[in-house]
Amino acid sequence: MKQTVGRFAPTPSGRMHLGNLFCAELAWLAAKKEGGTMVLRIEDLDPQRSRKEFANIMQQELIWFGLTWEQGGDLGGEHPPYCQSQCGDIYRQALQQLQSKQLVYPCFCSRAELHAANAPHLSDGRYLYAGTCRNLTLQEQQQKAKEKHPAMRVRVPDVEISFCDLLYGQQGENLAQEAGDFLICRADGVFAYQLAVVVDDLRMGVTQVVRGRDLLGSTPRQIWLAQQLGAQQIPTYGHIPLLLDQNGDRLSKRDGALSLDNLRSRYTAEQILGKLAWLAGLIDRPEPASLPELIAEFSWEKLPKQDICIPNGLF
Ligand code: GLU
Repeated sequence: MKQTVGRFAPTPSGRMHLGNLFCAELAWLAAKKEGGTMVLRIEDLDPQRSRKEFANIMQQELIWFGLTWEQGGDLGGEHPPYCQSQCGDIYRQALQQLQSKQLVYPCFCSRAELHAANAPHLSDGRYLYAGTCRNLTLQEQQQKAKEKHPAMRVRVPDVEISFCDLLYGQQGENLAQEAGDFLICRADGVFAYQLAVVVDDLRMGVTQVVRGRDLLGSTPRQIWLAQQLGAQQIPTYGHIPLLLDQNGDRLSKRDGALSLDNLRSRYTAEQILGKLAWLAGLIDRPEPASLPELIAEFSWEKLPKQDICIPNGLF
């Protein structure tokens, strides 16, 4: 059997918060439980939002916690580059591959038009693209291109994509009805997360994707894209519940009290990892725990499916 290759894929748009660390810890434990290795990929796709200094601090912090990786980040490895900002040519090739299969079309819609025309997705408030630019003739495309640089969308078929999530079990989605034609490149030339993440997971040999359940809904689109790009093997996916603050809100990179800086000045790595492992249901008490102990305790069956509120006084 192929060795498990897990990954962390942080976006360096700010300092890591506890939720990011929780995800890194569980991804690491899930991979190590299977004797696997980890990749660190810096998702600095959007130059406006990403800063090199945050990527540097993230790496130092992960190392401080012992959540090390075998390839990626400043360490390098056999599948460079590991920073998405350096992968433009690679994403362009993937875009061309999709174009050669007639799966891509230019979209000239403005933000305002998208808001006005798009139908909300039934279950989760996402918007389905109304298809305005789907069937433009070549002539119409050329005409519009004189006025505006287009974004690029993929034309999704009317198919059901299903997969078995390591925590949430059987999942499925009809792409045309529930996801719609989605963006793979923005009008300003920045490639979309959906394309980049798929291309990178494939080329870095990632076999297991562990990440927040906010990305569960992206997975069918990503599996389909991977298939279109000729993936030999699609990774397994395990989504994890999100950590919430005491008000039930998602943690943000601006949340000072739960910032890693603050926590690292008050606790040891084992104390923080132990508290997070307790929140994940891996251990019975929020006590310090070493990574080898936590590998032994890790099991997908112990994780809750509901989001987790950090109780008052835990940190
Ligand atoms: N870069 C994304 C984030 O920091 C994670 C993407 C993924 O895990 O697929 O939220």
